[in-house]
Amino acid sequence: MKKLNDGILAIKPSQTLAISSLAKQMVEQGHKVCNFSAGEPDFDTPDLIKQAAADALKQGKTKYTPVAGVPKLCQALSEKFKRDNGLDYKPSQIVVSCGGKHSLALVFQTLLNTGDEVLIPAPFWLSYPEMIRVAGGTPVFIHTTSDQGFKITPQHIERLATPLTKAIVINSPSNPTGVMYTPAELRALGEAALKHDIAIISDEIYEKMVYDGQTQVSMAAFSKEFYDSTITVNGFSKTYSMTGWRLGYTAGPEPFIKALSALQSHCASAPNTFAQWGAIAALERGAASIAEMVKAFDERRRRIFALMSAIPGVKCVRPDGAFYIFPDISSFGLDSVTFSKRLLEEEHVAVVPGVAFGADACVRLSYACGMREIEDGLARFARFCSKL
Ligand SMILES: *Cc1c(COP(=O)(O)O)cnc(C)c1O
Repeated sequence: MKKLNDGILAIKPSQTLAISSLAKQMVEQGHKVCNFSAGEPDFDTPDLIKQAAADALKQGKTKYTPVAGVPKLCQALSEKFKRDNGLDYKPSQIVVSCGGKHSLALVFQTLLNTGDEVLIPAPFWLSYPEMIRVAGGTPVFIHTTSDQGFKITPQHIERLATPLTKAIVINSPSNPTGVMYTPAELRALGEAALKHDIAIISDEIYEKMVYDGQTQVSMAAFSKEFYDSTITVNGFSKTYSMTGWRLGYTAGPEPFIKALSALQSHCASAPNTFAQWGAIAALERGAASIAEMVKAFDERRRRIFALMSAIPGVKCVRPDGAFYIFPDISSFGLDSVTFSKRLLEEEHVAVVPGVAFGADACVRLSYACGMREIEDGLARFARFCSKL
């Protein structure tokens, strides 16, 4: 066989894998491991969603759907955008794909030519750079620290914009930091991008997981100019605890969506049929279960933030959304992989090293776990830090 695709060969294997397999090994050996490495809600998918998918199966809804998704789902998403985000996206401006991750991969492939640059605020969700590289683009990182609250400013965009800059990825609230931009901050970032004709890719997957009475604002909703330059990505995984269902969606200007849909027609045909019927039920009747889950996450967030902030030597930015906390552990003098490995070996606490997200000063903890685990795990985390 001749040499494989250069872009694929350049993909870095996940740096988090070593830690999670070590954690699994420990559980098998009978150790009680406090696991903060989950990237998904710990709640079951609400019954009404499961029932709708089961009904769809029984009714024989088991064949291909139109490429962009079941028309009823695209219609329901169009209504969701209007209701929740103040956005006018016609059903023909929406494509449902096999997970938000798939949506994003298609977005980059649709948008990028070889050599195009994409600005990525760091810490970042670890799939963005790899997806961009595979699509032939070049990720350009905007590094931020905990002292900056992990937020970029319009000046960063001004400084890094080149004629090759095609897009910027905004993920608010953020995985891994939990930080959310205010509407004014978002608008200022968007204005800087638009000035240089940089498209905005807005990953709004955590839009419902926001706390303290805040609401997430959609980039595309600021003005007609924003709307025309923004691609909105969202999904069902986090909002409805449907990670295994593999459903995400993209909305944007008609010509862009048409091109993305053509790409999807050749690489996926369409997303899973009966899962889409579950998603319709989620949009129509799932609001109560979101509220319940968000309330539980908020209680855990307060607790984990209070416990983490009290540990001497740890710097912790208060998370506004999602279900992650991203403490800065650099004062202990260990890189994030060594810190995470020793924390697991010595105290049986599993976290994800920040280097995976472009921030070696930090580690990521997900609070998609029970309150007992949070209390127990943070006591161990604190004991570990006190030994360093
Ligand atoms: C989880 C996640 C996604 C998408 O997840 P899917 O399960 O593929 O829908 C997208 N962006 C971020 C930042 C995420 O954390």
